[in-house]
Amino acid sequence: MRTHYYPGGLARYDSDGHDFVEQGPCGTWLGETSELSGDWSRVDCKRCLKDRPAITASSEAEERAIIEQMGGMAAYMKSQQEG
Ligand SMILES: [Zn+2]
Repeated sequence: MRTHYYPGGLARYDSDGHDFVEQGPCGTWLGETSELSGDWSRVDCKRCLKDRPAITASSEAEERAIIEQMGGMAAYMKSQQEG
């Protein structure tokens, strides 16, 4: 069993709205025996650990994009309220 790195913010959902993740950030297809963790100290997948700098950079970029999107949404709502 391997624990792959997977920050919660990147969770995907299937058509029923259930959480599911089919592929780890290292490209490994996940089975029922695969664990996911956002905590690097628990990750023991060699490929995840090897790709750690790239995975960390991409998840930070994704977080920034989400924050920017939320900021844009807030500005839009505010402008709507102010009419
Ligand atoms: Zn992995």
